[in-house]
Amino acid sequence: MESEGAVVEPDDDDDGPDSQPHDPRVVVTKGSPWTIDRGRRERWSAPAFLTKHAVEVRQVGDPVLHAPGKKPRLDKKELEPMVQRMFASMVEAHGIGIAAQQIGVPLRVIIIDVDEVGIVAVNPEVDYESAEVDEMSEGCLSVRGLYGMLERPLIARVTAVDITGKKFTIEGEGLGAQCMLHETDHTNGVLYVDRLRTRKDLFPVEPDEPGEPHLSVSGHTRDEMERATSH
Ligand SMILES: [Zn+2]
Repeated sequence: MESEGAVVEPDDDDDGPDSQPHDPRVVVTKGSPWTIDRGRRERWSAPAFLTKHAVEVRQVGDPVLHAPGKKPRLDKKELEPMVQRMFASMVEAHGIGIAAQQIGVPLRVIIIDVDEVGIVAVNPEVDYESAEVDEMSEGCLSVRGLYGMLERPLIARVTAVDITGKKFTIEGEGLGAQCMLHETDHTNGVLYVDRLRTRKDLFPVEPDEPGEPHLSVSGHTRDEMERATSH
């Protein structure tokens, strides 16, 4: 994958089998998107901020999730408060991405937050998908309690504009590609469950008990599953 412009951390030799991969799974390949950077992330994750801005995430069946979003007016003053509500709602629900439709706003705006990249993309369009696919577990904040096994292209590229209208391109691999495609699907009124070949590929997230992690079929705890795959 092209990783131009990305900061790639050298792998530590003492990494145990439990450590997370360090290569960013979403990289900016053109332009420089407006992001939820470290400062914003800190402020926007504070308990008082979440109480004020987080809203209930809309659930499957709500018409706003099943219709294509509209192109928003590119005005930072109007879009930033909505992005704050999106981010707070995502943090509250332990997601790694969210679309405006999930908080009930029918606009084509998404946040991609795999590896905490915090990229805010307006009018995203998929402009490349690799022929090579990968089957991964995938969850959605709007389909609570379930996750699916779904094939997605291993690598994907999305072109979008930021909240002030500047164009940029991002590329993702694995979970990064999944997130970019999952969120872009939301802007078109498509959920991952619409892409499943059969309902047999859909599984309940196993109930969790405090202090006693339960393993799901894919070998992850519920908390890991939700954190790892819900958008
Ligand atoms: Zn989703």
